[in-house]
Parts: sequence; structure tokens; C-alpha cells
Amino acid sequence: ATPMALMVGTGRGAALGILIKGPEVLESTRRVDTVVLDKTGTITEGRMSLVDVHPAAGEEADEVLRLAGAVEDASEHPIARAITAAARARSGRPLPPVEEFANDEGLGVHGTVEGHAVLVGRPRLLADWSVAMPAGLAEAKSDAEARGHTVVAVAWDGAARGLLAVADTVKEGSAEAVAGLRALGLTPVLLTGDAEQPARAVASEVGIDAERVVAEVMPADKDEVIARLQAEGKVVAMIGDGVNDAAALARADLGLSLGTGTDVAIEAGDLTLVRGDLRAAVDAIRLSRRTLSTIK
Ligand code: ADP
Ligand code: MG
Repeated sequence: ATPMALMVGTGRGAALGILIKGPEVLESTRRVDTVVLDKTGTITEGRMSLVDVHPAAGEEADEVLRLAGAVEDASEHPIARAITAAARARSGRPLPPVEEFANDEGLGVHGTVEGHAVLVGRPRLLADWSVAMPAGLAEAKSDAEARGHTVVAVAWDGAARGLLAVADTVKEGSAEAVAGLRALGLTPVLLTGDAEQPARAVASEVGIDAERVVAEVMPADKDEVIARLQAEGKVVAMIGDGVNDAAALARADLGLSLGTGTDVAIEAGDLTLVRGDLRAAVDAIRLSRRTLSTIK
């Protein structure tokens, strides 16, 4: 009777917009006590928009945006798309081509544009390249982060040229989903490569405790955060959408990928939330508990 009841549960999952890799997945779903959620593209839409440009002293805002947009044109990252779209809209001309483009996963991008060696990414990236952050920009950075914006630094030819502030919107249903997870007795955790302040702003918007925010985690280290929780005896579900979430999805006791996410993430998950709606994760856990209790 057991396999039959599990199959019924799986079929019901499909109706709820949940794809389950195999019936055995329901068993690990039932045991989960901690749910780790990626921020960008999972809790939020992942469709960033540019909200501000802060040029460094002596620089032109439009030029900072134009060169940053040219490099980001070669990247698929949601931040890159926002910057490129704004740069195009603002300059009204095609962006110049980028040569020697390179992507530092979880940090940013660099390349040569009109003979300038341009760097665009996390402010931390500047230090890695021995580029100093002028005091005026450091202040603009704190102000923007306090407002929950993600700050991207732009540098070329060895000097910081400005900051771009981008913002993302929380998906409809994310707060409801977090409340639903709590109602099931689960602990929600937010995991992101983004900075502490924008991470906390999103956490507070959806109802995740500030002490359950794990920010500034490099893509390669996301799965170690899962392993650490498991070492504390937690049974961990991970929900994510990106290439940078794949290892964490695989490491988790239960990996939930978003149908709206990348193929690599979907491949790594045990269960897919077809429409990318986090409320389906709550349905999945509820369903697994119900299905397995009918078996007993
Ligand atoms: P998340 O974990 O929220 O999905 P990522 O690991 O993809 O975020 O990126 C972490 C951080 O690295 C971003 O918040 C951003 O500051 C920076 N970053 C990554 N890629 C880019 C890019 N193409 N352009 C600018 N910044 C980037
Ligand atoms: Mg993501």
C-alpha cells in the first residue's frame, strides 16, 4: 500500500504546481525542520532595476552607467540586465562592444571598453583589484544599503568611478509562504551572496528573523552553510533558482528548485516549484505530511 499512497501524493503534487522527482522524496520532505531560502530570484523577482547612479568626484553619471552597461551586456546576471537596460535607455545609442570579458561568479564582471579596463561588481571586488574607494562613495554606499539597495561599484583604469544602486522587489506570496513555513513549525533562513543590509531588508519584509540571515556568501560556499546546519542536527530544505544554488540544492536533505530558474538548479533539486511561487513549497511540505500519515 505504501508505494500506492506515495504515487497518489505525487499526482496531487502535479496539480498543485509541484513536480516531484520520485516518490521517495516525500519522506525527506516530511522530516525537514529548517528551510533555507536563496534571496535573489527566489524570495525576490530577480528582476532588478537601477535606482541611482553616484558618480565619483569629477566623473559623469551617464558615462559611469554607459561603460558599466557595456561590460554587463555580456552577463546574464539580473543585476547586469538592470544596468544594461538602464544604460541603453539613458544613452539612446547602442552600447560599445566589450573585449576580454570575464565573469567572476558572485563578485562581478570586467572587460575592456573603448580601451578602458572596466570593472563592475561588488564593492569588495575593488579591494581585490587594489582600487581604493573614495570617502564620498563609501558614504553613498552606506546610505544606499541602509535603504535596502544593492550597491555595485564601477571602476576603470585603476580608479573607482562611481556606484550604481539597484533594487529588486519581493515576489507576491513570499511573505505568505514564510508565514506558512513557520505555521508548520519550520525555521526559515535567508541565504545570499548579497550584502548584509539589503539581505536584512528583504528578510524583514518577508518575516525572516535578522539572526537567520546569512549574507555575503560566495557561490561556492552556499553548500557549506547547508552542511553546517546539518552538522547541528537540522534536517534542511534548500529553495533556490540559480546556478550558484545548485551545490546547495544537492547538499540539502531536500532541494526545491524553481521552475522559473536555471536548468542546472532544476537538475539539482528533488522537487520543482513549477511556477516559481514559494507558496507551493508550503503546499509540498503539507502534502508530504498528509500523504505519509495516511500510510501509517
Ligand atoms: P544571490 O545569492 O543573491 O543570488 P549572487 O551570488 O549571484 O547573488 O551575487 C552576489 C553579489 O555579487 C551580488 O549581490 C552583486 O553584488 C555581485 N555580483 C554578481 N554578479 C554581478 C554582476 N554581473 N554585476 C554586478 N554585480 C554582480
Ligand atoms: Mg538566486
